[in-house]
Amino acid sequence: MNFKVLALAVVGITFLFQTYVEWLRMKSSDREIPENVRDVYDEEAYGRWLQYFKEKTKLSFFRHMVSYAVLFVIIGFDVYAGIVKGLGLKGDYAAAFGVLAADMLIGLLYEIPFGYVNSMVIEQKYGFNRMTKKTFVIDQIKEVVIGLALTGGLCSLFILIHKALGSLLLPVFSGVMLLFVLVIAVLTPVIGKIYNKFQLLPKGGLKERLTGLLEANGCTVRAIKVMDGSRRSSKANAYFAGMGRSKTIVLYDTLLEQMTEDEIVAVFAHEMGHNKHRDTMKLYGMSSFSIIVFVLLAWALVSLPEIYMDFGFQGVNYGFAFYLLSVVCLSFLSPFMGLFSNYFSRRFEYGADRFAAENGYGAALASALKTLARNSFDCLSPHPFLVALTSSHPTVSQRITEIEKIPS
Ligand SMILES: [Zn+2]
Repeated sequence: MNFKVLALAVVGITFLFQTYVEWLRMKSSDREIPENVRDVYDEEAYGRWLQYFKEKTKLSFFRHMVSYAVLFVIIGFDVYAGIVKGLGLKGDYAAAFGVLAADMLIGLLYEIPFGYVNSMVIEQKYGFNRMTKKTFVIDQIKEVVIGLALTGGLCSLFILIHKALGSLLLPVFSGVMLLFVLVIAVLTPVIGKIYNKFQLLPKGGLKERLTGLLEANGCTVRAIKVMDGSRRSSKANAYFAGMGRSKTIVLYDTLLEQMTEDEIVAVFAHEMGHNKHRDTMKLYGMSSFSIIVFVLLAWALVSLPEIYMDFGFQGVNYGFAFYLLSVVCLSFLSPFMGLFSNYFSRRFEYGADRFAAENGYGAALASALKTLARNSFDCLSPHPFLVALTSSHPTVSQRITEIEKIPS
């Protein structure tokens, strides 16, 4: 069996499937808007939204095409083996880093132009972008540095453990990864500081209502913070982050600007619901399953040196193993994993909505969801298969339907 042919076949199937998904995305605007969200856009706003949606989905389709074209060239023409050979990289670590760095640089070559058109052209045109060119550039640099440090670090650790412990890699590296993801979850509030500034919600009427709500429900969070989301976009949001003592509820400054006090409290109550239901912990439990699959596949890939000959290498290249793992194996598996994890994520969202509604904020939350959808130009009629596959949140219409069932 030739592994290159196998890899190209798997990538080909994934490509066809993802093309279908992109097509469904573009066609979502042809679908009828559900009754209970027809008042989100008036006629004029709807016209603008439609134009925006078409530009965004077209860009996403081009990006998809380019990324797969690059992928086929890299795999088909043994590009990474050529780079490692051309640079004369010897030894497991240098050869692996060569592939990882080359892959990141090639990715940047097309991700930066697409990212630029998305934020600085389309989002700008519709008044959502608040990023200066400087913030855009600095964000890209931060991403490269963090990305290289993370993948390089994990890959070195993987090589080290594999060389020292052989097949014991499986339990040991799984343990390392589980710990790593746990640390990331606990540190989310700290990691956020790399990109944004956070301030404690100032004292006043709103803060009193929010802390009152926390106390009434026996919830403890370390802090309620306001994030300068307005530095990048006018789109509003809120999230619950951290675990244990680092638990924090973050409100975007744009949320505070665009919503009535009742709506803000309702959104806060929703985030509190996630806290009360320990959703971060549950998501972590679920991600451990995918981590074990990931380590199992990585181990299988480095246990078969003959694979690498078919791609032009002399023997195992750990960096290329990670590459095959992400672009071939995980890309192929991600729709299945997405169906599963997004299903649970949407259940958690309904649960958090229910919590807010039971606290008497059902109507305010429904109106907040409409405001959020209107201000971020959401698609109100995504194809159900697209929702099942890619959406961590139910549609606004589905959420409002469920909220209205709860007596307040
Ligand atoms: Zn939520």
